[in-house]
Amino acid sequence: MTTEGKKKCIIIGSGPAGYTAAIYAARADLQPVMIAGLQPGGQLTITTDVENYPGYPDGIQGPEMMEHFRKQAQRFGTDIRWSYVSSVDFSKAPFKVTIDEKDTLTADTVIISTGASAKWLGLPSEQRLNGFGVSACAVCDGYFFRKQDVAIVGGGDTAAEEATYLAKLCNKVYMIVRKNELRASKAMQHRVFNTPNIEVLFDTETLEVLGEKNVTSVAVVNTITKEERVLNVTGFFVAIGHQPNTDLFKGLLDMDEQGYLKTVPGSSRTNIEGVFACGDAQDKIYRQAVTAAGSGCMAAMDAERYLAHAGLH
Ligand code: NDP
Repeated sequence: MTTEGKKKCIIIGSGPAGYTAAIYAARADLQPVMIAGLQPGGQLTITTDVENYPGYPDGIQGPEMMEHFRKQAQRFGTDIRWSYVSSVDFSKAPFKVTIDEKDTLTADTVIISTGASAKWLGLPSEQRLNGFGVSACAVCDGYFFRKQDVAIVGGGDTAAEEATYLAKLCNKVYMIVRKNELRASKAMQHRVFNTPNIEVLFDTETLEVLGEKNVTSVAVVNTITKEERVLNVTGFFVAIGHQPNTDLFKGLLDMDEQGYLKTVPGSSRTNIEGVFACGDAQDKIYRQAVTAAGSGCMAAMDAERYLAHAGLH
């Protein structure tokens, strides 16, 4: 049901890309409507210290930073809806965006900033014990395992960062790495190797997460020696990367084999005129808050130029 007048610009998603797009779109008088999604503020709301975002010389907590983004977007009149987008129709302009499976909004332009979500190993036991000792967010759930032994899978910056975070709370942290090296930056590797209660298990894969109601241990195997081992841990954290939140746009927008939206190089333009993409939904290389914010700015400027060119603004 369409209950409202046509919008100039709808922004889907509320991470750094979406909020920056909103600030620019609002200041260009596009009166943007933002659909905040199921995780308002995005991935930064499940982070602690952000030390690499320019303008915060002493660092800032992720959730607090996203509050700043939100306030700045609202200060210029962004209409934020605490809803999620259940479907879209980009077959012709104005575009249709259905929220919460009931209300349909129409808009001349849509900016997609739906971000990315954590990946899982795909073990049935991991799924069964999710929330009962299995987690993809050390910052959210680490507190529950203080003074206990835990394991974390992954060898990237996220796993390294979360392992050092957990090491402060927990008794012992096993880091399960499938290769014989970490992918994390040298600085993060240095931190991991210098944290005495982190034990890195290289060439190791997870066989099963064990436990009836809660995680009680994890079975792992060394892929070189084939030696199996049971780690007595009560927490099992998965930090093996992310996938873009772009399922809504399958078959509608061009994307690569991993689902990242394709944009015309040097712009935020998708294959549909008037639909723009920014942030982690289209960036698998940099994936930083600051690059996401920069691409959100690009999307709003591209939307404004498109509307002006089409005589719609
Ligand atoms: P990455 O893709 O960089 O790393 C994923 C890790 O998980 C790799 O070690 C990978 O192993 C491993 N992995 C993937 N799939 C599996 C699997 N099925 N089983 C076991 N292990 C698996 O993801 P991150 O989330 O760590 O980082 C994403 C991006 O964000 C990176 O560019 C990173 O630099 C950046 N980042 C930056 C931070 C900062 O600057 N403070 C903090 C966090 C992230 P393999 O190496 O064998 O492929």
